[in-house]
Amino acid sequence: MGTSMSSDTTEALFKTIDERRDELVELTRALIRFPTVNPPGEGYLACAEFIGQRLRTRGFAVDYVHAAGTPGDSERYPRINVIARRAGPAAGPCVHFNSHIDVVQAGGGWTMDPFAAVVKQGRVYGRGACDMKGGLAASIIAVEALVDSGAKLPGTLEISGTVDEESGGYGGVHYLAERGWFTPPRVDHVIIPEPLNVDRVCIGHRGVWWAEIETYGRVAHGSMPFLGDCAVRHMHAVLDRFERDLYPKLAARRTDMPVVPSGARHSTLNINSIHGGQQETAGYPAPLVADSCRMVIDRRLLIEESLDGVKREVRDLLDRLAEERAGFRYGIRDIFEVRPTLADRDGPVARSTAAAIHRVLGRQPEFICSPGTYDQKHIDRVGKLRDCIAYGPGILDLAHQPDEYVLIEDMVNAAKVMALAARSLLCGPFIAEGCSAPRP
Ligand SMILES: [Zn+2]
Repeated sequence: MGTSMSSDTTEALFKTIDERRDELVELTRALIRFPTVNPPGEGYLACAEFIGQRLRTRGFAVDYVHAAGTPGDSERYPRINVIARRAGPAAGPCVHFNSHIDVVQAGGGWTMDPFAAVVKQGRVYGRGACDMKGGLAASIIAVEALVDSGAKLPGTLEISGTVDEESGGYGGVHYLAERGWFTPPRVDHVIIPEPLNVDRVCIGHRGVWWAEIETYGRVAHGSMPFLGDCAVRHMHAVLDRFERDLYPKLAARRTDMPVVPSGARHSTLNINSIHGGQQETAGYPAPLVADSCRMVIDRRLLIEESLDGVKREVRDLLDRLAEERAGFRYGIRDIFEVRPTLADRDGPVARSTAAAIHRVLGRQPEFICSPGTYDQKHIDRVGKLRDCIAYGPGILDLAHQPDEYVLIEDMVNAAKVMALAARSLLCGPFIAEGCSAPRP
């Protein structure tokens, strides 16, 4: 069959999705109304069941996976994931859409109820509208439109709603990946509808190293500091070295990863916090020399850097200080680490999604990487599935902000892109209606 028939069925698919615009909005609103705030991990079960029940009526087999014993899991706040799977009439690849259902705390600054899912001026507002319930809703509508189109698509469509992405994904994608849920041939291609803008394909993210550095001193009376040794001054020496030696080096290091915004194409280091000296008691500071100062650093790594090398760089700097500075002693403790990840931009899922964006929006998509991490790391590093990208309708800058919203137009377009990309991954780009054989 030729491309003209393919074009007809594509138009029919788009029409179906356009007709479901209101349904897409209502689905997004329903998802926002579950206040799945993490921490503590509120309402996961109800939200997972809502997704599972909906997809069960469309012929999906639904599994609920309780990540027992993972961080935060308790009777009150169980870590419940939902995976819905629908196999076609013939063997073929599995295309999986993975969304996290947890949202960060609403925080201050809202001009409306963050869980009321207000619709205004072509936007749906609410905590999670952008990150990433709008993306989850778009993927559900996309997959349902494909199923309802009646095309005999080979292979398998899968949708998951997973928990705890905002706290590292250990009760969600990491737990599932460790147990084979994301390993080929069970799953072949994954799209994560994170908010990275409707016309961009995100092929990976930078890595992370969080660590706590502690400097040590000796307590003495505050009126005679020369009898003690101030840990805060030692920490100042660390910061001074960072300013003079480390920051210029990091700024000079540039990645080939297409990270956005471009400021994040360098290695970065944030000082998350510093705590030094004795606790105040009832508002009164202790007149003591500080014997301890702790600093938490957030180092973001490029694909060209190794985690070991990044850690060694900081340790070497501290060791040099210990040699040069009288009384300098330190400790360092790892808190959290993630290796960078980067999918092949010429791989099937990136190419199919890029082609679909071009078809739907009429412009060339941009390939990007995320400055922060998301669940792709677990799918890549733990599940050993490389063909994974992030693509979704939300606007990146709005994630975690007060008055977060998603544009309805972007959700409709993203649903079309997802449907088209999934169809071409299942059937090949030019086969459409009646498609019944997997690609050779
Ligand atoms: Zn997210």
